[in-house]
Amino acid sequence: MKFKVLGKTKERIPVIGMGTWEIEDSAKVVGSLLAGLKKGARFIDTAELYGTEPVVGKVLKKDDDFFLATKVTPSHFGYNNIIKACDSSLEKLGVKQIDLYQLHWPNPLVSIKETMRAMERLVEDGKIRYIGVSNFNVRRMKEAQDALKKNEIVSNQLLYNPLERDIENEILPFCEKEKITVIAYSPLARGKILNRKPEIIKVIDELAGKYGKTPVQVTLNWVCSKRQVVAIPKSSTVAHTEENVGAADFTMKKEDIKRIDDASSGFPYPNWGKTILSKL
Ligand code: NAP
Repeated sequence: MKFKVLGKTKERIPVIGMGTWEIEDSAKVVGSLLAGLKKGARFIDTAELYGTEPVVGKVLKKDDDFFLATKVTPSHFGYNNIIKACDSSLEKLGVKQIDLYQLHWPNPLVSIKETMRAMERLVEDGKIRYIGVSNFNVRRMKEAQDALKKNEIVSNQLLYNPLERDIENEILPFCEKEKITVIAYSPLARGKILNRKPEIIKVIDELAGKYGKTPVQVTLNWVCSKRQVVAIPKSSTVAHTEENVGAADFTMKKEDIKRIDDASSGFPYPNWGKTILSKL
């Protein structure tokens, strides 16, 4: 497993973690997450909104040595609500401390100063270690950082895969400049990466042959080839999870990364961030 430094901290996190949106609370899924941990994907992402904190809690009872990230829902961004939401997440997870606590989406209806006051209180009380955001555009990230007195935002969780590269316009360059980690969500385009655009698939297939890897592994490797980016694919099977973790143990040549860049440039939501994220 390869690691990247989280934000400006000294923490190192695996470049491949595991998402948990829409997983079931079953022995099969617990087994799959444990298999991923065993192979080195020691980073699990959940959210109060997903309803999957209890199943992550079950994993934690068997193996608690991983970087634990969860998210607070925007309707809970008022001061008292964040504190309550965090206490509830801690209870569901069965831990005393969350490594990374993320604001799931911006909420323009609540003052970011109030929200960040609560987040800093949680750090002071030792309930969370690091503050992150998700789906924040550059303007929102600047506001969020300005609202913090003692802490820095370490990460922004964003949609990123070869079919959805909009963050490359503004947010990714900003995060690179400010040393904020980008946690790529839906890095396999929700499982549709390999049945969408033939011109991209052709290149990915060729590179899979060249490196002796699978097309999924080449895709995830491309996502993590970007300096500031780590990825959190979701899988509920041991085979897929182990395949995903295997995306981290090789390095593609620059010219091969560029081949995927070229094949996928501009497809299919070139202005997604400008149209959706900028309205938030
Ligand atoms: P994803 O990871 O891009 O794709 C998941 C899909 O790909 C599942 O259907 C999975 O099926 C399939 N898959 C996984 N590994 C595979 C493999 N090796 N071969 C073939 N198919 C494979 O999509 P995602 O779940 O949307 O994103 C990942 C995580 O990001 C989420 O679980 C969540 O933690 C986070 N997320 C965050 C936000 C946000 O707003 N912050 C939004 C969306 C997602 P199987 O289960 O059958 O393997």
